[in-house]
Amino acid sequence: MVGAVDIGGTKIAVGAIDASGQVLAKEVEATEAAGGFDAAMQRVVAMLERARERAGVELCGIGIGCSGPIDPLSGEIGSVEFLTEWQGCNPVIRLGEHFDLTAAMENDADAAALGELRWGAGRGKQHLICVTVGTGIGGGVVLNGKLYRGVNGAHPEIGHHVIEASGPPCYCGASGCWEVLARGPAIAARFVQDAPRDYPNREALTARGVCELARGGDALARREIEREGHYLGVGVANLITMFAPEVIALSGSVMNGADLFMPIIRTVVLRSCGLVPAASVELLPAALGNDAPLIGAGAVWMQRFGLH
Ligand SMILES: [Zn+2]
Repeated sequence: MVGAVDIGGTKIAVGAIDASGQVLAKEVEATEAAGGFDAAMQRVVAMLERARERAGVELCGIGIGCSGPIDPLSGEIGSVEFLTEWQGCNPVIRLGEHFDLTAAMENDADAAALGELRWGAGRGKQHLICVTVGTGIGGGVVLNGKLYRGVNGAHPEIGHHVIEASGPPCYCGASGCWEVLARGPAIAARFVQDAPRDYPNREALTARGVCELARGGDALARREIEREGHYLGVGVANLITMFAPEVIALSGSVMNGADLFMPIIRTVVLRSCGLVPAASVELLPAALGNDAPLIGAGAVWMQRFGLH
């Protein structure tokens, strides 16, 4: 049984995860980052103890997923947008010492990828890329059954590979990144730009709203779905051409429109990836659902210290 901790900018989830990836007990509280790291860790300790009691088990280790960037090897939190005052703090050491257990941490996208590898869409596979498309685009790359790490242990930023070199500038320094073009807010923004001024609820539309309009047959919304599907497809096709993975698992709020986007993504992939066996790559929705980051945190410990 592993204690799992998912640290995000707005909330912290804690749970007890068993060897088959089931969440036996779970607690969620606001992060309250401004209250400081020490206070937050005291709450996490209390949450872990309650979760362990409710599940009626002893913990054998603690797995942590945290909004990145973080240093997965030292366990130190880096310069995280919503946790600025926590930079340099170390939940791995803090929680490991308190419980006298081994602990391990990955950024939350990598944690989710490890969860999908062990218990979800990548079960039994060696090469998996997990992509989350929401307000941004992030993901984790698993090759040969292990998380891929770059120089200094760096996490590759698949959301920031360039789709359209002449596209809009991105905060990462490049222009026309996958994230800038295909994230959820881009769908609504393009739709609003194209829609006539008297279009009903024009300003209030979200990605989800555009999807609903498209399902109802709205021509303008269908055009935007085609465009978004194209951008998603180009990014997925690039990943397939570069890594030829066994599985690409897609998650995030934009994937609530998977019924609309998946057929377009598949068409772009089959048209674009002629040098690799693209038809053999499984394109799947992520399987672990809303608890994916928490289950993934459990998988982080399993991957580092548990049985393989
Ligand atoms: Zn970028």
